[in-house]
Amino acid sequence: MPDTELLIQPSELKRANQELRAASTASIIEWAADRYGDQLCVATSFTDTVLVHAVTQVMPDIPVVFLHTGLHFPETLETMKKAQAAYALNLKVIHPEPNVADLWTSGVESCCEARKVLPLERGLREAGFKAWFSGVRWDDSPERANSPVVGLDSRDMVKVNPIVSWTNDEVDTYIEKHDLVSNPLLEQGYTSIGCWPCTMPALTDDDARSGRWVGASHTECGLHR
Ligand code: SF4
Repeated sequence: MPDTELLIQPSELKRANQELRAASTASIIEWAADRYGDQLCVATSFTDTVLVHAVTQVMPDIPVVFLHTGLHFPETLETMKKAQAAYALNLKVIHPEPNVADLWTSGVESCCEARKVLPLERGLREAGFKAWFSGVRWDDSPERANSPVVGLDSRDMVKVNPIVSWTNDEVDTYIEKHDLVSNPLLEQGYTSIGCWPCTMPALTDDDARSGRWVGASHTECGLHR
C-alpha cells in the first residue's frame, strides 16, 4: 500500500532511477522540475559552480541554498559573491542558531549537527522545500560511489543528483568550457571545500574528499544522510 506521507513512492523511485541513470543532466533536472516545481532548491558549498550553473540553465530562478556555518574560508565566501553576481542567483543563505558553540575541537559530529544538519533541516522546512539538487558524484569518494540519481534523504526529502555520473575530468572540462566562477582554493589542491578547521588539500588523487576531517572517522557532515 502506498505511504501517503512519502514525497515519492518506492516504485516511482525505482523507476526514476532506472530511467534517469543514463539520462543527460538536463533531462534529470527537467524531470525534477516537472515533479517538484517551486518546492525544489539546489544546495551548494561553492567549491565550484558546476551544479549551480547546470541547474540554473534549466531553472534560472531556482533558490540556491548555501549553508553558512560561520567557519568558511574567505575564498569560499568570495566565490559565493562572484557567483551570485555572475549568474544572478536567487541565493538563500542559511545560518546556524546565534551563539552556537565552536565545537569542532571537542567533536566533529556534534559540531556538524549544530552548524550544518539542524540549520539545513530548519531552513528547508521553513521554506517549504520538498526536494533538492545536490552535487554528489560517484567520483567524489568511495562512500559516494553507489549514490542514486534520485533518493530519499534522512529528512524524507527527495534528493536529486544531476551530475552524479560526471567524472572529475568532465567537471574540469565543463568549468573550462563555460569559464565558470570557481573557488581559488581548488588551485591549491583543495578538491572538496568545507569549513576551514576541517578542510585540508586532498591527501590523495583517488579521493577528492580525503582532505576533509583528516584524522577523524567522520567522512560526511550529515547533510547527505
Ligand atoms: S565541518 Fe568542522 S567546523 Fe564545520 S560544522 Fe563540521 S565539524 Fe564544525
